[in-house]
Amino acid sequence: MSVPAEIDGFDAGPLGRLALSRSGVDRATQRRTDAEWVEAAWADPGTRVVVVHASQALGRTVDGQPGLVFVSAAEAPEGTRFFLGVDDDEVAYFGVSAAAGTEPWSWSSEPGAEPISLRVAGALLSDRDAGLLTHAVALANWHDTHTHCPKCGAVTVPAPAGHLTVCPVDGTEHFPRLDPAVIMLVTDPDDRCLLARNALWPKGRMSVLAGFVEPGESAEHAVVREVFEEAAIVVGQVRYLGSQPWPMPRSLMLGYQAVAAAGQSIAVDEEEIGEARWFTRAEMREAIDTGELGVAPSSSIARRLIEFWYGGELPDGSAGWAAAAR
Ligand SMILES: [Zn+2]
Repeated sequence: MSVPAEIDGFDAGPLGRLALSRSGVDRATQRRTDAEWVEAAWADPGTRVVVVHASQALGRTVDGQPGLVFVSAAEAPEGTRFFLGVDDDEVAYFGVSAAAGTEPWSWSSEPGAEPISLRVAGALLSDRDAGLLTHAVALANWHDTHTHCPKCGAVTVPAPAGHLTVCPVDGTEHFPRLDPAVIMLVTDPDDRCLLARNALWPKGRMSVLAGFVEPGESAEHAVVREVFEEAAIVVGQVRYLGSQPWPMPRSLMLGYQAVAAAGQSIAVDEEEIGEARWFTRAEMREAIDTGELGVAPSSSIARRLIEFWYGGELPDGSAGWAAAAR
């Protein structure tokens, strides 16, 4: 059964469709278990392969539109292969995680091709290419770090479509891992927005708070716990807004809004947070315009949460993340 095109037309919720939550090909999950079909698709000269190395792939800008550079299966370097999907013209897409020791970016001589990352290019790519690169980076990062059976320690073997690995000794199957993380727009009763600077970040770079969901914990509890741990602010009214994958290396970011009770003072956990403060909309805009504040890149859910509160797009500003981001 093929997945109807409308499946990607769903209402993505208050945040709308996020940069890395887009897609343009059918994942065709029913094909993954059909080894014969997978091999035939891989052998087809029309098949397009995106090669991932260190969470990046080759991209090229044509008529102002950045896009992925694909190679054929024959041109792809050695590495773990995985099936990404099929487009409306029945063209199959695969990813390959370039094997260690491969000369980086040597698999294409396309003029103007250069390595691109999701962080920098994710918001600029088309729906199809943003979805393919996000999917490919996620699977490449999993394969690169999950090479052995957790039960017996033997080297595992990827299944033909690359969406699971199998232990040749005990037959156990192993599936890609995801780390759920919460990221939250915290507002106060005056509708100000809380931003914080990670202790490791340069001055001026700030964002909304975020943290991993712990084992045995709900996402909503993680929101309340993280805000209290990092800023000593008690929040209630936790509302889910939307999600996007952030596969560097394997996060699924769950976006929330949480409202703080009035009359609280911020006290940061100095090991983790360098500073934190409330911003009105006017204060935030002025800080960005004067170069005192840079907010997260457009590809991030952090940026979308901040702009959701602000009520429109914000400029990157000279203290932005773009220059440092990779
Ligand atoms: Zn095993």
